[in-house]
Amino acid sequence: MTKLSFSDYLDAVPKVELHLHIAGAIRPETLDDLAFLNELRLPKPATELYQFTTFYEFLDALRLAALALATPRDFARVAYECIEDLHRHGNVRHAEIFFNPHYFTPNGVAYPEIVDGLIEGLERAEHDFGVSSLLIACIDRSVCLPSEALQMLEWMAQYPRPKVVGIGLDGAERAGPPLLWVEAWRQAGRSGFRRTAHVCEDNQSLFEAPPTHYTQCRDALGCDRLDHGYNILADPAVVQRAVQDQVPFTMACWSGLTWNRAPRRQRIKAMYDAGLNITLGTDDPTIFGTTMGHSWRTVFADLGWRGAEARRLSLAGVEASWLPEARKAALRSEFVATLDALERDLDPEDRVVELAVTRG
Ligand SMILES: [Zn+2]
Repeated sequence: MTKLSFSDYLDAVPKVELHLHIAGAIRPETLDDLAFLNELRLPKPATELYQFTTFYEFLDALRLAALALATPRDFARVAYECIEDLHRHGNVRHAEIFFNPHYFTPNGVAYPEIVDGLIEGLERAEHDFGVSSLLIACIDRSVCLPSEALQMLEWMAQYPRPKVVGIGLDGAERAGPPLLWVEAWRQAGRSGFRRTAHVCEDNQSLFEAPPTHYTQCRDALGCDRLDHGYNILADPAVVQRAVQDQVPFTMACWSGLTWNRAPRRQRIKAMYDAGLNITLGTDDPTIFGTTMGHSWRTVFADLGWRGAEARRLSLAGVEASWLPEARKAALRSEFVATLDALERDLDPEDRVVELAVTRG
């Protein structure tokens, strides 16, 4: 029997995606289509809009892309296609997806229409591809005030949906450091929502996104998961605390900024080697031009990782998810069985990793 190549093995490893923004996962052709249908004049076609050189230009492109979604049908389409891409390009079996209601409400679309549109697409995708999903309502601190975070929590209370299980905080850390959000995050905790926040992202300086933000997110905001986290490496005491906490970090393997890709991979390695609890995600896959499979292959090729790391990271995704315990246990068993079968089939001699974004 032909053995499985290392690239095929990496694509087939079962994965959980915990760091993905729906506005950053719109296929370029879908964005052009929706902009046309909803009469949004994009300054340039999506493929050009998805080219940028700074973190702040990227955030502008992301917010502009979000404005192309105006009806529940648009949200359903984008959610469905996002899960289809995760399924086809990297064998994602469960995804927890950020959506920022305030990106879309200027279009005249209300919270329940946004969330029900997304859920319709996610349920259809679960039926077609067997990929489960949850939603995380998110606040972009560059454009939202703390009062808008409280408003979002009111919407979540008024229109409860079992799929919406938590809240997140994204955007530029300099615009909204963690302590601004204490009231909203505590309110979310009291309402039974899980809490995360983007923190210590390495495309922002240590002044803008310092390691102390880690401690604030844990102690003041009550986050039980964190997104990114690389800048904590600058403070050994914070690293030590995070090792003790074993709080999961959802990392983005493929930075949107070319200059940061190789340094980011080294930070991922440093955090893994330090014993931190990390998981790998794609962040904004279509805007960044990556897929889950591509992101994993790039990291494994660069860091020389093999099956042991693949198994650990695959299962870390299951444990870090916000699924109910029964579903988590089922997913864990499925992952172990798939990993065992893949490892039996893997060609031990093959160490070539193909780095094309789309394969097969
Ligand atoms: Zn993100």
